[in-house]
Amino acid sequence: MNNWIRQESKRKQQSPLYRNLVITDKNTPETLINGERKILAASNNYLGLATDARVIASAQEAVERYGTGSGGSRLTTGNLPIHGQLEQELARFKQTEACLLYSSGFLANLGVINALSDSETIIFSDELNHASIIDACRLSKARIIIYKHTDMKDLEKKLAEHRNHAKKIIVTDGIFSMDGDLAPLDTLNFLKERHGALLIVDDAHATGVIGTLGRGSADYFQANVDVTIGTLSKALGSEGGFVCANNETIALLIQTSRSFIFQTALAPASVAAALMSIHIIQSEPERQQRLLKIGMVLRKALNQLGYTALNGISPIIPVIIGCAKHAVHFQNMLNENGIFIPAIRPPTVPENTSRLRCTLMATHTDEHVQFIANTFRKIKHEQLS
Ligand code: PMP
Repeated sequence: MNNWIRQESKRKQQSPLYRNLVITDKNTPETLINGERKILAASNNYLGLATDARVIASAQEAVERYGTGSGGSRLTTGNLPIHGQLEQELARFKQTEACLLYSSGFLANLGVINALSDSETIIFSDELNHASIIDACRLSKARIIIYKHTDMKDLEKKLAEHRNHAKKIIVTDGIFSMDGDLAPLDTLNFLKERHGALLIVDDAHATGVIGTLGRGSADYFQANVDVTIGTLSKALGSEGGFVCANNETIALLIQTSRSFIFQTALAPASVAAALMSIHIIQSEPERQQRLLKIGMVLRKALNQLGYTALNGISPIIPVIIGCAKHAVHFQNMLNENGIFIPAIRPPTVPENTSRLRCTLMATHTDEHVQFIANTFRKIKHEQLS
């Protein structure tokens, strides 16, 4: 092995920020983590659909019908009828003209942002945007201007400084993955109109979670978003990414978006699972309602106990600890008490904001939520005594 790789690997292993892999049995409220039974309060399987019998059956049928792999890229031999069907359903769900599937949300961000920008473009990007948006920006030839997190005054100032620039893009998460707060799409909508910019929203955590029947953040704010990027891997309980936009935008992406053109088409099972999930999300709105309700209950309980659970309406409830070492210690204490919530540390989040990223699923019972709150109470008492 190269010496520098050995040295770098060793250095990482000795770092307090070393990341360990845990083995999860499946993403249900009660599951096995590293072989031990725990309550899981950290999954993105927000609506519990990844383990829903109907979603599983739909995936199984697609495997029987089409096999396990799609066999080629969409532009060669991999374009199955269910790809187009899912795109139509997603476009209808997001109330846009068209949709295009990608192999993941990460690749959708890379492929869309790069196809829609060039060296003449300025991209205005929220400082807490997801890593895939950051990497997409780094890869693009555009000039990147970072604005302070959800600070519309800062964005407006920066847009105004480039008033005469023709090609401008504003890009933001809909629900921020580590803080769980919402981008103010009402103001962003206003600013993009005023400054003639294109608005791209990554709705990975908002799809199925907020807005009418889970349509996402544009619906929640009644905002006019030009391009919505999403993932099938969270509330939709599957895997894959997508982009919703008007016909011209999607037609352009099919011709120019490299992570669309050069990727094998999404596996049939993933497509069929998402098709069933979209149907369930719209016919069982009680799942979304329950998810939001128990999120509010837990957030309130934690704040009443004296924790700093960041405000918001999403099922992402970050409990700020600060120091990375303390956050890991807290994770271990929760683990000893039968709960799995991972500590999120730099570089994923800024220095001194290490946190427990607690997320709920619609399938958590009231007793699970109570148990989580009680355990945080118990740990607080132990720390004070
Ligand atoms: N955007 C955001 C905001 C995310 O949180 C994630 C996943 N963590 C992604 C994009 C990437 O989606 P995928 O997992 O489908 O690649």
